[in-house]
Amino acid sequence: MKMMIIGSGGREHALAWKCAQSPKIQKIYCCPGNGGTATLEKAENIDISDYQKMADFAKEEGVELVMVGPEAPLVEGISDIFQKERIPIIGPVKEAAMLEGSKAFAKEFMKKYNVATADYIITDSYDKAMDFVRTANYPLVIKADGLAAGKGVRIIDNRQDAERTIKEYMIEKIFGDAGTKIVIEEYLTGIEASILSITDGSTIIPFISAQDHKPIGEGNTGDNTGGMGVIAPNPAVDKKVMADFTENIMKPTLEGIKKEGWDFRGIIFFGIMITKKGAKLLEYNVRFGDPETQALLPMLKTDLIDILTACWEKKLHTIELQWNAQHSCCVVAASGGYPGSYKKGYPIEGLEKTKNTIFIAGAKKEGEKLITSGGRVLAVCATGSTREEARKKAYSDMQKIHFTDIYYRKDIGTILPKTSQ
Ligand code: ATP
Repeated sequence: MKMMIIGSGGREHALAWKCAQSPKIQKIYCCPGNGGTATLEKAENIDISDYQKMADFAKEEGVELVMVGPEAPLVEGISDIFQKERIPIIGPVKEAAMLEGSKAFAKEFMKKYNVATADYIITDSYDKAMDFVRTANYPLVIKADGLAAGKGVRIIDNRQDAERTIKEYMIEKIFGDAGTKIVIEEYLTGIEASILSITDGSTIIPFISAQDHKPIGEGNTGDNTGGMGVIAPNPAVDKKVMADFTENIMKPTLEGIKKEGWDFRGIIFFGIMITKKGAKLLEYNVRFGDPETQALLPMLKTDLIDILTACWEKKLHTIELQWNAQHSCCVVAASGGYPGSYKKGYPIEGLEKTKNTIFIAGAKKEGEKLITSGGRVLAVCATGSTREEARKKAYSDMQKIHFTDIYYRKDIGTILPKTSQ
């Protein structure tokens, strides 16, 4: 079978790596791919950015399965275009992708279907927003409705900051149209966890839980990034939390998808907060997380192609996920200066000495060398029978890798949340 993977990050390298292990796969077109996918034997990078042209190419080449990595193509309707051409594609149609594309839409959906979440108001009126924050309790959270590259969410401690934020979002429009509407939300305290799942619209199967590390600095300090490391499972997600999540978040979400009549054959990522009053949903993503995917796929024993095919054929009820390791640790190496400005163009050395799985994100292939080309450059991902074993293996490999200004957190897997409260 020929397949196509859309996207250019570490997540897409991990997906291509895992799919290439399937005996059912002959060829993977990575669109556009990166320096990592360029080194995979079965993969070929192709550079097409127009979705219709991608679909035309897929048809000409006899592609039988497409996997979408990032959210933007889904929110822009790539699945609708491929489906019209009768090309199997994993990722929800545009209407359902709004669960990620619009925070207001997602909150309304959660409320309609009784998904446990923080209290909130939604408004596109500057005056109403200003009125609300005058009498509100602090802290609270203000979110731009649309996609804002992970920067549209602010935790607000006082009225002054709330008024400034509303002005920046709604009047100065620092996120353009994404901030025309805002969500003002109750501030939740607790432990965050990521739970990815796959659904065909009738069945939903959760993956092993994960703990992301968003801030750039050790001890979870400094600016937020796309993610500097992941451990899986998340130590806070014990049986009790999983049961609560299943009952009050996952099941009502599936119920909602069914009732809305959406064609949702794809990935749902649940970003949750485990609070004293139970698990609450912070956000939906409608695609694999990055770098959660890099941490999870090396643990997955089941053929990913079987899972994706069953998803497309609406036969996920026939699939049981098997895992071949209990713990995973994934550490991201970034260009010095990221998430601010950084230099690129440096050769990456030492990869041949590593023993675990390396997923490339911001690097391109030039001749036989990999050259840095982005903020998050690569991730070392190791598995083990204990968290400590996985962690040691990942860091032992990281020490063998060099490029100018390399930066990585040394504490991934050591800042452990307490188990369920
Ligand atoms: P991403 O970068 O994944 O796209 P996002 O911009 O879609 O994130 P959210 O995931 O909704 O935004 O929020 C980002 C972060 O803000 C969360 O991971 C969490 O740490 C914090 N956060 C969001 N909502 C709340 C809340 N109600 N209470 C406390 N913290 C919150």
